[in-house]
Amino acid sequence: MAYDVVAIGEFLIDFIPGGLSPAGNPLFERNAGGAPVNVLAALSRLGKKTAFIGKVGNDPFGHYLKDTLIAKGIDDRGLVLTDHAHTTMAFVHLNSQGERSFHFCRQPGADEGLTYEEIDASLLHDTKVFHFGSVSMTSEPAYSATIRAVKEAGVHGAWITYDPNWRPALWKNDLHGKQAMETGLAAADIVKVSEEELVFLTGSYNLEEGAELLLEQFPVKLLLVTLGANGTYYSTRALSGRVLSYPVQTVDTTGAGDGFMGAFIYQMLEAGRPVTEWTEEGIKRALSFANAAGALATTRKGAIASLAAIEDIELLAAT
Ligand code: ADP
Repeated sequence: MAYDVVAIGEFLIDFIPGGLSPAGNPLFERNAGGAPVNVLAALSRLGKKTAFIGKVGNDPFGHYLKDTLIAKGIDDRGLVLTDHAHTTMAFVHLNSQGERSFHFCRQPGADEGLTYEEIDASLLHDTKVFHFGSVSMTSEPAYSATIRAVKEAGVHGAWITYDPNWRPALWKNDLHGKQAMETGLAAADIVKVSEEELVFLTGSYNLEEGAELLLEQFPVKLLLVTLGANGTYYSTRALSGRVLSYPVQTVDTTGAGDGFMGAFIYQMLEAGRPVTEWTEEGIKRALSFANAAGALATTRKGAIASLAAIEDIELLAAT
């Protein structure tokens, strides 16, 4: 296989608050954003061969995002640059309690314009793992492009990993978001959700019950529910349980879920066998590693900038 992991999805600029100018006006810091790329950056940092499929504007921000892929060692030949839409941008606002809200400049943004015909088929046919999320499924044509790409990669033998992200501002309404997220669940082997996303998808506030409901409804082989500082819950139907995370000095939780996901996919690749054949011990070991990666990602600011090196992850996972 030419690639270990290929991912499709949104790629945008996150403008995060950067204090005040001397004149007293708010400053925003330019950051590369988009969960699928963060996952690839984590895998690339762990030495895996990765490529990204997505669309940005042929503008200074799109060029910056392309340069980011190259700098992180992610193959950029699946990145399409368009003259017809601007690179998507999200402005992050912090309220007086430090809670984040997002303002999206996406009417529509370049990432939403990706068509299936623009995707280089070899990226779908020649990868061990294919990863996607739900933010590229908010509108057409990116919705169809994402789902068709996932199915095509699956038919060619890739393991499909999926992280459905719930960002209410991006959907017409709750039902629209839920339906699109479910379309992804129907096509995925390994799924990672947060507790809030599990509640949203199943209506159950009980973790075990919610996981059971989701696994009854969809052909998912392994469900991972990330629990922040409390680690991760896993279920394969036959096996289920919790793996604790590690106490760390948390500074910023941005990117913890993506660092976790990248580290778990790394363990899938290292095992070389489908997760359905893993022992419970194997699942727990892989999750300890992924939890350590998630924990370390909270000790530094940023999503890509906070990704840990393998030595540090292994050191923490051994404690
Ligand atoms: P998401 O970004 O998907 O909501 P989480 O914030 O739950 O994901 O983080 C993913 C993983 O990272 C968790 O399952 C856990 O292993 C680890 N993690 C996250 N926050 C902390 C923390 N404060 N302390 C220790 N580990 C953490």
